[in-house]
Amino acid sequence: MMENRLSEVSVAQAVTEIQENIAQVCAACGRPADSVTLMAVTKTVPPERVNEAVDAGISFLGENRAQEMLSKYDQYKKENVQIHFIGHLQSNKVRQIIDKVTMIQSLDSLSLAGEIQRQCEKHNKEMDCLVEVNIGSELTKSGVAPEQLEDFIRQAAVFSRLHIQGIMAIPPVCESQLELERNFSRLHELFIDIKAKNVDNVAMKILSMGMSGDYMTAIKHGSTMVRLGTVLFGRRAYGNP
Ligand SMILES: *Cc1c(COP(=O)(O)O)cnc(C)c1O
Repeated sequence: MMENRLSEVSVAQAVTEIQENIAQVCAACGRPADSVTLMAVTKTVPPERVNEAVDAGISFLGENRAQEMLSKYDQYKKENVQIHFIGHLQSNKVRQIIDKVTMIQSLDSLSLAGEIQRQCEKHNKEMDCLVEVNIGSELTKSGVAPEQLEDFIRQAAVFSRLHIQGIMAIPPVCESQLELERNFSRLHELFIDIKAKNVDNVAMKILSMGMSGDYMTAIKHGSTMVRLGTVLFGRRAYGNP
């Protein structure tokens, strides 16, 4: 069974296979293999297993929940490792994570931007952020609507200690491959369009899209960072999508 296979494959083996896949897709679309960063998404994964990924060469960890991150943080190997926050972030949790992450990929409101600015001032630091885009305009998901993205970015760019480095998205569950590709391609267009506007204090460098089921398609459409959980660590228990 798939679950068994996944849990028997070592994290190191999975990392090697994924890196090979990334290199192949990159070659097929004429991109250098190092133009895509592989991030390990750690939700529900015990720190020892996360460290196996780090030992296998992963240098970016993605954290969804402040509480869970804080409970595992001390046990992570952190040399040459950057931790990004990728889950929905409530303003009142910012102070718990501000000194532990190098990027917040889930910036989705100006009030959150304001709180990140305040906490950065307090800790005398700066924070790189990605703006989360709700590409399917789903009511159940957070993120900025594609139509409002440029306005949002212009307003968020005013916060001097936040540096927007790109966008992040989780596309909706798609009925077809075509629909999935349309979502990725629209995200890529938004990324390119905003980059061309040269907004002050905004650098469009990172297009964070692609998860276990669709990362190769995402790379085809210009993703520069794929966020992988299941294909690295095996399936999560029910209730942790
Ligand atoms: C869980 C999660 C992922 C990884 O999902 P998989 O399908 O397990 O690879 C990526 N990004 C975010 C924001 C997530 O919450």
